[in-house]
Amino acid sequence: MSTAVRIAMRRASLLLAASSLLAAHATLAAPAPPADILLTNGTIRTVDHDDRTTEALAIRDGRIVWTGSSADAPAHADAHTKTIDLKGHMVMPGLTDGHMHPLEGGQNLVGCSLDYLPLTADLFTARIRACAANPAYRTTSGWLVVRNWFQEAMQPAGLRMTKAALDSIDSTRPIIVLSSFGHSLLANSAALRRAGITKATPNPTGGQIIHGPDGQPTGILEDTALDLVMTVLPHPTTQENIAAASAALAAMRAQGITGFLDAWALPEDLDSFTALQKQGKLTARAHFAPVIEPAQGKDIAGDIRRLTTIRARYDQGPLTPAPSITVRNVKLFMDGVITAPSQTGLLLAPYLVNKGTKDHPDWQPGPSKGPAPYFPLETLSPLLKALVTAGFDPHMHADGDGAVRLALDAIAATRKALPANDFRPAIAHDEMVDPADMPRYRALNATPVLSFQWEKQAPDTTEGVLPYIGPGRAPYLEPASQMEKAGARITYGSDWPVDPLDEWFALKVGVTRTNAPAAGAQYGKPLGTEPGLSRASVMRAITINANDELRSDPVAGSLEPGKFADLIILDRDIATIPAEQIAGTRVLLTMVGGRIVYSTGTFSPPVR
Ligand SMILES: [Zn+2]
Repeated sequence: MSTAVRIAMRRASLLLAASSLLAAHATLAAPAPPADILLTNGTIRTVDHDDRTTEALAIRDGRIVWTGSSADAPAHADAHTKTIDLKGHMVMPGLTDGHMHPLEGGQNLVGCSLDYLPLTADLFTARIRACAANPAYRTTSGWLVVRNWFQEAMQPAGLRMTKAALDSIDSTRPIIVLSSFGHSLLANSAALRRAGITKATPNPTGGQIIHGPDGQPTGILEDTALDLVMTVLPHPTTQENIAAASAALAAMRAQGITGFLDAWALPEDLDSFTALQKQGKLTARAHFAPVIEPAQGKDIAGDIRRLTTIRARYDQGPLTPAPSITVRNVKLFMDGVITAPSQTGLLLAPYLVNKGTKDHPDWQPGPSKGPAPYFPLETLSPLLKALVTAGFDPHMHADGDGAVRLALDAIAATRKALPANDFRPAIAHDEMVDPADMPRYRALNATPVLSFQWEKQAPDTTEGVLPYIGPGRAPYLEPASQMEKAGARITYGSDWPVDPLDEWFALKVGVTRTNAPAAGAQYGKPLGTEPGLSRASVMRAITINANDELRSDPVAGSLEPGKFADLIILDRDIATIPAEQIAGTRVLLTMVGGRIVYSTGTFSPPVR
């Protein structure tokens, strides 16, 4: 008999002994106090260690106090218990989104939007012209901010927009158009003037001002060059920010999100969600990662001072059933995005360029592997060491395989320097991973935070990446299942508002690696030849694994006695329906810490 089997048997007999003791105790002692809420007759997918399913669940004081069979449920109720007959419906833990930008997401829900649509130059201009004519979309200072621009899907493919399109609408008042990827913007001449950007302006560290053949800026700014404009863009008012945060929380409740990481937390993010928390309106556990900009990377003592000040001001300490604010994570960018036309993702080998013609392409290695690392390893390793010593978990944006390796190398150096520190590093995006690096996630206990909805054929992958990496590297684009096979604990993060907030579509793509039928037949096949993840894996990624990333796993992420009652009731059982139908899932009720914060009316009076 192997040691492992012996240990397992011993554990089983101990458990048996413990449960008979508990049973004996239950008959002797007074009955447990009745539940506040009792769910019965359901398919409750607990996402516990063994992915157990149960029928009934009791909640008291915001926590789960019991799970078991429907037959045993009445013993947990009295006249004051609210009993919900699930009629077979599926219940699962509330969703935890391990990487999003909620304030920006909320702003997108209330301002001028291009709605992530593929647009021709004419349609692009027409939509922005309509916004410019609508006074509701102008800030008091006269700026027009346009959001949700799917820059990579402009038609025809590869079309590059310039400031000329915006100047034709209005050349006197500033207009900026923000790419949904968050790594570039288009500014008109007035906005460039306000930002003081001329032919002679140097590129900032970690960013680019794109120039035309005449040497003039085209209006496209990438990565940290965005800051040149964003710092002169008048700030939304406190009330506007709170309204955006409120819209974000409403969208989350309807999706079933009960926890999230704000992966680029600015003071206005922290202020608005804190204001809502104080009013009792925070309906998801809110974790915040302030950013360290590349230019700040060398001032380690200054960074730690700044971050600990933010933490002291906003972090509300140990989690409670009522949602609260934490500041335990810190965001760092290793690179930009691998998708053309940006190609600001850092690769191990050069991007390919077409040295032939459109009809007879000849893809050959070009001159660029992307930008220089935003943080060189010799800056990054001591910075991580200082961060984790100060009690922060690094959350690193790494999109290309070169950036992923850099992040893993810095984590490895930090683990070596501080072997007893239990920090939980996360690497977000991981769109390309070299096979040699895949086992390192497990070895270094680093969490990949993936946006499953990118793992499909679409303009940004099929046209935006695959030709530029070639068939040799194609298998390592969006390699979720390969990473999982290599032992990585896959976690989900939507990166909202890079895409519309649709966690259920994302989970579907995570399983099928296919686009929606509406995207067209040209994107109908799965991305690559590797399989998707199992249903159980995508469910763990968006529940318990995301809570592990955020250190909230002792109290959230699965439905087990002692944990907070963060749960959702669905209109379908996503573990058994055809995978394509996961995309259409509707949440019927969302509960956070035992409080119903969203209900369509099916199981409880409507709450929106
Ligand atoms: Zn992000």
